[in-house]
Amino acid sequence: MLSRYSDHLEILASEHRRRALQPRGGVDFSSNDYLAMAHAPAMREAVSAALTRGVSIGSGGSRLLRGNDPEHEALEREAAAFYGSEAALFLSSGYVANSALLSTLPQREDHIFYDALVHASAHEGMRLARCGRTEVPHNDAGAFEDAIVRWRGEGRRRRPWIVVESLYSMDGDQAPLDALADIAARHEAFLVIDEAHATGVFGPRGRGLAAALQGRENVIVLRTLGKALGCEGALICCAAVLRDFLVNRARGFIFSTAPSPLMAAAARAAIGLVAASDDRRAELRALCTHAERRLARHGAVATGSQILPLVLGNDARTMAIAWRLQAAGYDVRGIRPPTVAPGTSRLRIALTLNVTTADIDGLDKALERALA
Ligand code: PMP
Repeated sequence: MLSRYSDHLEILASEHRRRALQPRGGVDFSSNDYLAMAHAPAMREAVSAALTRGVSIGSGGSRLLRGNDPEHEALEREAAAFYGSEAALFLSSGYVANSALLSTLPQREDHIFYDALVHASAHEGMRLARCGRTEVPHNDAGAFEDAIVRWRGEGRRRRPWIVVESLYSMDGDQAPLDALADIAARHEAFLVIDEAHATGVFGPRGRGLAAALQGRENVIVLRTLGKALGCEGALICCAAVLRDFLVNRARGFIFSTAPSPLMAAAARAAIGLVAASDDRRAELRALCTHAERRLARHGAVATGSQILPLVLGNDARTMAIAWRLQAAGYDVRGIRPPTVAPGTSRLRIALTLNVTTADIDGLDKALERALA
């Protein structure tokens, strides 16, 4: 039907045809439900127990108004104690958390140095930040230090900020956290570590790759709840004064309805269950080793993590191969720019406890056919 707005709608439609929502189907080689917590019976029981004890579904308002719920506060207390930070702040998603953190905490005179592969949500925060920023080549600690030294201006109040992920979402590789922490200490920088993909999977009791650094007053760790913890939302684990500042200044916190108290209750249970799940972590590690052995011949990179990228380069070929795998019953997704750099389109093979070694063997055969 022709509408008065058809020219405008046509432009929008041509932009949008590239991506479409697909129903969930096939063996899960793409979700971030690494420890299969999203459907775990123990999680269902915890959520139904929370409902029975009267936890609200909706919060009804901003945390600064009537939306503040005892479940939010309990989650934050328990998370800070477990992860070893002075305080924690619960937000509705990792996207909002990154955006809130980076748009609010660095001050006008500061400067952000960020890894070239940080997530879109970090870019969102940095775009809104009041200070300048410099991209640093991926995982190059020396380049961070050089860039900070070049920038280092006079004035004691100016702070550099180092922004990285501990485990990169599309490459599966790890940041040189110890070297970065040393650089941060030498230059009195704040170090922001996004642990979205490491939380629950790495570190003692799943406390992440930054577990040993948490507690330093210049280290801020973002932990998402929607991946290995099987829930939704995120925690910013940091010094109490930084949490207070976010509560007072972060627009994504102040002007948004507080996350569901029921989700806070689910997250409390998930943190406890995942902490006690060394067996799940060992099982995931065994799957990773099996997949690395099986899928290397197709070009999948052995990263030592649950994320195995298989870089194909060409966008159309990547999507065609992903589609062939899906048609064969394996839910592998193609990742294209702008999520990854131009020319590096890839299959992102993610391992979770939703699959078995037999599924990996099946994927190996399906890849052989799809890539032929
Ligand atoms: N940081 C990283 C590294 C991520 O991969 C993601 C999600 N893809 C986010 C932040 C955003 O987290 P959420 O999905 O909870 O919004």
